[in-house]
Amino acid sequence: MENQAKKNILRSIPAVDEVLNQPSIQELIVVFSRKLVLTIIREELENLRKKILAQEAVSFLNRETNLKILVDQIAQKAKNNTLLHLRKVINGTGIIIHTNLGRAPLLSRAVENIGGVAEAYCNLEYELEKGERGSRYMHVEKILKELSGAESALVVNNNAAAVLVVLNTLAQGHEVIVSRGELIEIGGSFRLPDIMRQSGCVLKEVGTTNKTKLSDYEQAISQETRLFLTAHTSNYRILGFTEQVVLKDLVGLGRTFNIPVMKDLGSGNFVDLAPYGLEDEPTVMETISSGVDVVTFSGDKLLGGPQAGIIVGKQRYLDAIKQNPLLRALRVDKLTLAALEVTLREYFDPEKAVQSIPVLEMLTVTQEELKKKAKTLFRQITRKAKDAYEMSVEKDFSQAGGGSLPLQTLPTWVVTLIPRSFSVAELDKRLRKHHPPIVARINQERLLIDVRTVFAHEMPIISEALERVA
Ligand SMILES: *Cc1c(COP(=O)(O)O)cnc(C)c1O
Repeated sequence: MENQAKKNILRSIPAVDEVLNQPSIQELIVVFSRKLVLTIIREELENLRKKILAQEAVSFLNRETNLKILVDQIAQKAKNNTLLHLRKVINGTGIIIHTNLGRAPLLSRAVENIGGVAEAYCNLEYELEKGERGSRYMHVEKILKELSGAESALVVNNNAAAVLVVLNTLAQGHEVIVSRGELIEIGGSFRLPDIMRQSGCVLKEVGTTNKTKLSDYEQAISQETRLFLTAHTSNYRILGFTEQVVLKDLVGLGRTFNIPVMKDLGSGNFVDLAPYGLEDEPTVMETISSGVDVVTFSGDKLLGGPQAGIIVGKQRYLDAIKQNPLLRALRVDKLTLAALEVTLREYFDPEKAVQSIPVLEMLTVTQEELKKKAKTLFRQITRKAKDAYEMSVEKDFSQAGGGSLPLQTLPTWVVTLIPRSFSVAELDKRLRKHHPPIVARINQERLLIDVRTVFAHEMPIISEALERVA
């Protein structure tokens, strides 16, 4: 480009004041701040200048059109700038306990209680009756004891922390006996052998991958044995020619040799899910009543609460754990306790819990309801963006996720979409960039939205988004 031509284009770039005086920029200043908008205007004008100098085209000679484009860009940037990084998304994947999407959505009263406790001071470690220092663990201990039937209870940051602190307290520097069939890995970063090493215990594996007998445990007992650990194989099953030790028998063996038994339940739940046609996951009550000394489980898997690690069991072991200095590093915060207390209280009426706790509601919702929901979404999208997509309502399968119910097939209903004028991958990308972002599933060159994990109030947002992104 000739110098004179370049100069002419550069001269056509509007001044900061001219951009600032555009009516829509004035509106932006009201919503955001003058300072932010001004900074963005300067950045955008500078970008423009650089692009022209680098000859990446951008003629500004058609002023009116170009000014409009510039103003739109500035508005978009201002909006993006104020968006928080961690934010709500719509889960159209059908994976209920989706670790990447934050696991369990909380019931609304739990959310309200977080706000209530957070916006002021609270009695986190203060006994109101006595007017003296209290323990943060007191708020949910009684409820956990009543629900589980255990003598004592404690809550830490997550279940990995729960396993760590139990092992460290009961067996540091000594041996823990575990079946080879239960050396689990949960989502990459939780591997039982690694946690054991970190807790300072020596792992003593017994049996084989598919068969472990009570005699295997018995033969492995030595002077160094401090604990039998059994882990619920949450996210896999060993099928076929198998043998596992019945928990009661292991407890019996422990009694004989004075060795405590710990069970890592993983996804602990307080409701028997079998009547809802779901896989028979052991409940916390069942596990405690089989005589196990210490049980650990997550707060945000099937329990449907906030991220937490719950430890229930015999008083003498829990008392020892409560004395462990490590607990200070793993301690649960007040916001978690605020949500956990509300969630746990729901379980005093299990039938109500299945309705009110989102994770359980999504797990137990009927086929008819899912079909109705999918048809409603289909209709809403049709109304908004009929011409943009090839659509259908079909049967498919959801997943429990979160390393729970690994073999469970959850028949569901999905809305399938194929954009008429762009690719499925592009649609997926546009939906992820939408506000709020919508995360769906791609299957055989179609985008699927599983209505199981979509809240009713989110359906109009989805249909509007599909209209906008097309
Ligand atoms: C999920 C799981 C864990 C880890 O629990 P987090 O709450 O994610 O820390 C540990 N053990 C088992 C058996 C699990 O299923």
